[in-house]
Amino acid sequence: MIVIFTSRTLLTLNQQPCGMCLNARVDEELTEDNDYSAYSVGESQSGFRLMLCSGAGKPTRIEAEMHTEHGWGTVAVYEPKYCPNCGRSIMEYAKKEKY
Ligand SMILES: [Zn+2]
Repeated sequence: MIVIFTSRTLLTLNQQPCGMCLNARVDEELTEDNDYSAYSVGESQSGFRLMLCSGAGKPTRIEAEMHTEHGWGTVAVYEPKYCPNCGRSIMEYAKKEKY
């Protein structure tokens, strides 16, 4: 079985993405070249930050970043099953099964 998630599928499931988990796989007007978003969330010590990111061909994720003389760099990534902002199940990046 192949499951294709579209904005219509998610509307049927009452699982509309919020601004933080929106991506090209759930919005037909976006592509994986223009759907990247990143928000700084929570509180961190100076030189560190937590980013809630979505898009760019990857599931919604929390990235821990550290600032160096070269700029911000990702040091850890966590991909939750549910959007930390709206609670939507992140289904669109699940592995597709073929029969
Ligand atoms: Zn969300």
